[in-house]
Amino acid sequence: MRTYAPLPVSFTHGEGAWLWGQDETRYLDAVAGVAVCSLGHAHPAIAEAIADQAKKLIHVSNLYHIEEQEKLAARLTALATMERVFFCNSGAEANEAAIKLARLHGHNLGYDVPKIIVCEGSFHGRTLAALSATGNEKIQAGFAPLVEGFIRVPYNDFNAIQAAAKNNPDIAAILIEPVQGEGGVNIPDDDFLPNIRALCDQNDYLMMLDEVQTGVGRTGKWFAFQHHNLTPDVMNLAKGLGSGFPIGACVANGKAADLFGPGNHGSTFGGNPLGSRVASTVLEIIEQQKLANNAAKQGQRLVDGFKDALGDLAGVKNIRGKGLMIGIELEKPCAELVKQALQQEHLLINVTAGNVIRLLPSLIITEEQTDEIIDKVSRLVKAFL
Ligand code: PLP
Repeated sequence: MRTYAPLPVSFTHGEGAWLWGQDETRYLDAVAGVAVCSLGHAHPAIAEAIADQAKKLIHVSNLYHIEEQEKLAARLTALATMERVFFCNSGAEANEAAIKLARLHGHNLGYDVPKIIVCEGSFHGRTLAALSATGNEKIQAGFAPLVEGFIRVPYNDFNAIQAAAKNNPDIAAILIEPVQGEGGVNIPDDDFLPNIRALCDQNDYLMMLDEVQTGVGRTGKWFAFQHHNLTPDVMNLAKGLGSGFPIGACVANGKAADLFGPGNHGSTFGGNPLGSRVASTVLEIIEQQKLANNAAKQGQRLVDGFKDALGDLAGVKNIRGKGLMIGIELEKPCAELVKQALQQEHLLINVTAGNVIRLLPSLIITEEQTDEIIDKVSRLVKAFL
């Protein structure tokens, strides 16, 4: 179906942060499959894990114990200091699981129509409940009736959350991105998440973090919540967890950990031996090679470099980043820069929220490649303004 409008290029192979087109042109990838290919392209350890596991066992279903899944669950819960995981196949599906957990929690509290506080500018996926939670009317247009039970507040506005809490006696959860990705690389104030944690504790709400884009090293920590001294009740992952292999996870802690019992939720493919093996390998390599640290370091280099090159230009509104989620906000819409970057600079970039150049390179990006991204993007922006 015509759900996408692809750019006029198709890649035959990749290596690390490089991609090759059909005419052998080499491209530098600063999108990484939209924050997915955490280890870059064609990582030998991932290729090896896929081949080796495929020769042993790809899939059996969750009717049986799956050793690879149990290993991955143990590793993920240890890294997050949380208790349990439900595995699925995508970010939207992880959010669906979280929304169901919130409903169960709300019903346990005696609410007929449990509500979830969500934010303007958020993106949680394209399934019906996830798009109903999403704060973007374009994504919802045409799909009414939406799933009910969401209360929307501005992002990074704790007073608005407090007001919503005061006016609604039947709130079960707050679902929030620690940094908004699709919404424009919006980084909240340092006290935003800690304030939400405290409010959730006071009112028995579940604090649910959508870390589908921020998770697994991207912001410079394993998970973005680890920039603060707190643990959420629910955290959703996907994207970088499989470095290109589709896998999602809904991680839960404390009162959220035992809400689901047998029969409450499921997924045919979720957590199968192949996907679990790949994700375990991804975690192993991120740890061994300290790639979250590299994300923090290269991310800072990108922000500093762009501030030097573009910071004083009229037409550049803001330059910001958290690890390897980088946003350069221009005064005017700049969607056409994506094609210009591809064709003139052989560079893959993304533009989101209309006027924000978004860069999400793989966590293995080198200093040299970082500098090349700064040069290429700065040249494009200067010519564009
Ligand atoms: N949540 C966030 C924060 C995302 O950035 C995305 C995808 O961009 C999703 C959820 C949806 O993930 P998926 O496309 O895997 O369903």
